Amino acid sequence: MVLAGTVTHNEERGPARPPGDPQVLVVGAGPAGCSAARAAAEAGVRVLVVERKAVVGEPVRCGEYVPAPLLREVGRGGAFVVQPVKGMRTILPSGEVHTLRAPGFIIRRRRFDQVLAAGARDAGAHILLSTRAVMGEEGSVRLLGASGEEWTVKPRVLIGADGPHSSVGRRLGIRNRNLLAAVQVRVPLVRPMDHTEVHFLPEIFGGYGWLFPRGGQANVGLGMAPGHGGPHALRPLLGSLLGRLAGEGKIRNTPRSLTAGWIPVRPLERTVRGWTLLAGDAAGQTHSITGAGVAQAVECGRMAGKWAARAVLEDRASALAGYESGWRDLFGETLERAWEKRKHLEARWDRLEEVIRSCWVGFREYYA
Ligand SMILES: Cc1cc2nc3c(=O)[nH]c(=O)nc-3n(C[C@H](O)[C@H](O)[C@H](O)COP(=O)(O)OP(=O)(O)OC[C@H]3O[C@@H](n4cnc5c(N)ncnc54)[C@H](O)[C@@H]3O)c2cc1C
Repeated sequence: MVLAGTVTHNEERGPARPPGDPQVLVVGAGPAGCSAARAAAEAGVRVLVVERKAVVGEPVRCGEYVPAPLLREVGRGGAFVVQPVKGMRTILPSGEVHTLRAPGFIIRRRRFDQVLAAGARDAGAHILLSTRAVMGEEGSVRLLGASGEEWTVKPRVLIGADGPHSSVGRRLGIRNRNLLAAVQVRVPLVRPMDHTEVHFLPEIFGGYGWLFPRGGQANVGLGMAPGHGGPHALRPLLGSLLGRLAGEGKIRNTPRSLTAGWIPVRPLERTVRGWTLLAGDAAGQTHSITGAGVAQAVECGRMAGKWAARAVLEDRASALAGYESGWRDLFGETLERAWEKRKHLEARWDRLEEVIRSCWVGFREYYA
């Protein structure tokens, strides 16, 4: 088991476990978990983060686009920025192109997650890599190291920041079945681009294809609505999207390493139960229409950590209600609207060209 004294490398072998039981246990060292850990540690409680992967941020399962305001929030000199983007081009099946000004950045997601993890560590949180959390009885959690080590902790507050298939959520009897499958490859770009591209095609049911420029390369991927197959079913569609983009002279169709993942498209109705709370993808805080979730994971993670620390310090589980209302105040309306739009869009997919304007964030009508 690796105690992540420096979380960017896993060669540092620390003691098998940090001193003392954690007051707050965070499962998952993604953007939500690291942000939660940092906020809780800054508030003065003992925080342990467990991450089943050996290296924070790997493998990358992300188009790596984040909106500009997030960068100001995270700060740290933007060590993870690959390039700025000015806006987004939406391309409809008819070939019509609609351009929206939407300043943002393409980031090195691996580096981004590691910067967040370093922030948590600097604030005093312990991060254990190669360590899987398994839910036990009566609030206990078993921690299993990759080399067979095992121990049990009983934190006061448990934060599930463990992604779309959250095992912490399952312990609460919550399973988010509204997951969208997504696949992506990295390809060479023919010439630099300063806009992202979003391609709506009838065959990509309830989703879209994307081309996100990344310096001399691009992330090209697609996501499709729940119930239309897992990532395997998407491969042929990705193949034809790549062929199309190559035909348009935008990319060279020599993809490297395919990544696949799942994106929750519906926020959970409850994200707090007893002394446990969920944040980020585990809480379904991604945007139902765009699939973007990094910004919400950072913000909601931060709130989760703040309220978890308060619950510990006041010895009062009811304090966690502040998290539920806090994140819904900030994102609830946006995410609910997106979910309603998704249902509308899927129900009228056969009239895509007609309904897309009221269902895609690239059009003013979406906000009407
Ligand atoms: C193909 C794809 C493209 C995307 N593109 C974008 C994009 O361009 N922009 C954007 O904003 N969003 C994008 N998203 C969504 C974004 O990646 C997520 O919303 C974001 O990662 C959520 O962060 P998180 O911390 O909640 O979860 P994650 O980043 O998934 O982190 C959860 C962590 O928990 C760990 N974990 C899980 N179970 C356990 C366990 N039992 N014990 C220990 N550790 C555990 C996992 O290993 C993982 O590291 C994309 C998603 C996909 C799949």
